[in-house]
Amino acid sequence: MKYIVLPILLLCCMACAETQEVANRPPPPPPTMPTPPIVTSPPPAPDFSSVKPRNIILMIGDGMGLPQITMGMYSLGDSTSLEKFPVVGLHKSHSADDLVTDSAAGATAFSAGVKTYNGAIGVDIDTQAVKTILESCEEAGMNTGMVATSVITHATPGSFAAHVKSRQLYEDIALDFLDADVDVLIGGGKKHFDRREDERNLLEEFADLGYTIADFVKQPLASWNTDGADKLLYLTADGNPLPRSQGRDYLPAAASLAINHLDAKEEAFFLMIEGSQIDWGGHANNRDYIISEFEEYNAVIADVLEWAKADGETLVVVTADHETGGLAINPGSTRDSIVAAFTTPKHSATMIPVFAYGPGSENFAGIYQNTAIYHKMMALLAL
Ligand SMILES: [Zn+2]
Repeated sequence: MKYIVLPILLLCCMACAETQEVANRPPPPPPTMPTPPIVTSPPPAPDFSSVKPRNIILMIGDGMGLPQITMGMYSLGDSTSLEKFPVVGLHKSHSADDLVTDSAAGATAFSAGVKTYNGAIGVDIDTQAVKTILESCEEAGMNTGMVATSVITHATPGSFAAHVKSRQLYEDIALDFLDADVDVLIGGGKKHFDRREDERNLLEEFADLGYTIADFVKQPLASWNTDGADKLLYLTADGNPLPRSQGRDYLPAAASLAINHLDAKEEAFFLMIEGSQIDWGGHANNRDYIISEFEEYNAVIADVLEWAKADGETLVVVTADHETGGLAINPGSTRDSIVAAFTTPKHSATMIPVFAYGPGSENFAGIYQNTAIYHKMMALLAL
């Protein structure tokens, strides 16, 4: 028996060792796949009059992440104008110094294609000015505009036409706007123009530069006659405009005025339209505030899309800088009554959807950095 058992044990152990060795061995290399052909340029979009857009309208819903869009969509009866966009992508929203970006770094990524520190307005991580798409458009002879439902000197519009090291420097941002030659400026913050620490009256200085100027006290925006005007500056409030639920209603009229004014000129245009207060609803962890602001922005998106469809030469890109509130739509929600839960009164780091329509829109599919939005727009404008 001894003579038989020992070789069997030996064989058994060898088999075990063999099994062990197989388990430790690295997996075999995958079979060689044929190299796919390199696509040098995206196929032309046959539905549009030209592959490259003449104009770009960039719409930034501040704090409008996927939960905000979803909540707004359900509250609108399971429908949003964003569904009409044929191209959807996602951007990685983080800034240079924090996974959770603020609106200044987020907007500077869109405006200048650089990741910078939170709080930076049109400057890089070394506080050096970086040229923005709006400035490049102006240099190339295009016209430009910005519309916001915050002060016009706030972080998002500020980052397109100013270069200051901190978003708090509202008066310096207004000063930089003097040099930027933006053709249409509509938003709040009149006090940053005419009640300044340096006692300059920028409204007079803008008028000297050829701007036609009005404000919420003198003239309702909806009936403002701008016939024959060259550049427009309309200030909608002394400080920040009210929430929509408290009576602010100028955004649809402002967007329409800006588009019509810019479109009437001979040159092409770049326009940024911000729905600023979706973010503030998020900071307040206030479901109804978010829904109310989203509903208005959604309606403006629908208007812009309709205009772009008729125009045929305009690229519309809708996105957000970041999500705000860490919003979740919890169990028990119905379309009439969303059970909203928030994880933070601040921003969150989730990826952000991008919606594109028009010539060149196919370039906005996929997942990419927030800075790529700048690079894609610049490549399409080919200035
Ligand atoms: Zn915010």
